[in-house]
Amino acid sequence: MTETQAPRVHATNFDYRSSRDVEALTLFFKDYLLEEHERLRHFPSGIPLASWLNTILLHVDDEPVGFCSADLTRYAIELIYVAPEHRRLGIARWILTDLRDACPERMRIKAPLSPACRKLAEQLAIPISSPTPDEEARGERAIKDLHETIRQRCRHRRVGSDLRPCHRCYQALLRRAAVAMVTEPSVAMRNAARLLGGAVA
Ligand SMILES: [Zn+2]
Repeated sequence: MTETQAPRVHATNFDYRSSRDVEALTLFFKDYLLEEHERLRHFPSGIPLASWLNTILLHVDDEPVGFCSADLTRYAIELIYVAPEHRRLGIARWILTDLRDACPERMRIKAPLSPACRKLAEQLAIPISSPTPDEEARGERAIKDLHETIRQRCRHRRVGSDLRPCHRCYQALLRRAAVAMVTEPSVAMRNAARLLGGAVA
C-alpha cells in the first residue's frame, strides 16, 4: 500500500504569489495548530513560512494534502503536517526521506513531535533536535503571557484555570494566528519582490 501510493505523491515549492497556495497553507497550518493544541494544551511551536524557511506543499495527484517547512540555516525540519485523511499512505515518510537524502549535512527534525512523527523520525534515523534551555524558557514565558492575555480578554462565563485558558478563546486565537502567520510573510515576500523588481522569486 505504502509503496504503490508513492508515485501519486508530489511536492511543490510554496508560491507566496498564488492565492491557492496561501489558502492551502493557511488551512493546513490552522489544522496543525488546532490538533497540536488538543495534544499539548498550549500554543504549538513551529513556523510554516519565513524567509529562512523552505516551505513545500505536498500533493496527492493535484490535491494539496499537507506541507513541510525546512529551516535552511540549521538543516532541520521545522514543521511537517499531513491532513488526517491522507495519513498512513507514506507521504511523510516519502518527503522526509527525500529531504534527508538531499541534505548536505545531517538533517534534523525539531521537537515537539506527535508520537507518529517521532516514531517515523526514529525509523528514518533522523535525529530530533530539542530546543536549547534558553529557547525553552523563552517559549514558556511566551505561552504564559499568551494564556494571561486570553484570560484577560475572555468574555465567556468559564474563564478557565491557570493551566487551561478558555477553549473557545484559544481556538479563535489559533485560527487568527494561522491566517496571520501565513498571510503576513506572503505579503512581505510579495513586497520585497516588487521592491527588487522581481529579482527575488
Ligand atoms: Zn473565552
